[in-house]
Amino acid sequence: MKLAVIDLNRCDRSPFCPVKRVCPFGAVTQEYGKPPVIDESKCTGCSKCVMVCPMGAVQIV
Ligand code: SF4
Repeated sequence: MKLAVIDLNRCDRSPFCPVKRVCPFGAVTQEYGKPPVIDESKCTGCSKCVMVCPMGAVQIV
């Protein structure tokens, strides 16, 4: 099963993070000032979030 994973060394923890907005499955949540969190039970590995992260912090594994 493919899954999105966030590289915490690359993530800038921006409150404007587009990763949480683009997920069609509602798999991404984010608390202010923290990196987004991906719910493994909802993520389908579609890779939409990979394409929008300006930091290149999301990978599909
Ligand atoms: S890979 Fe797709 S389903 Fe998974 S978190 Fe990213 S946008 Fe959502």
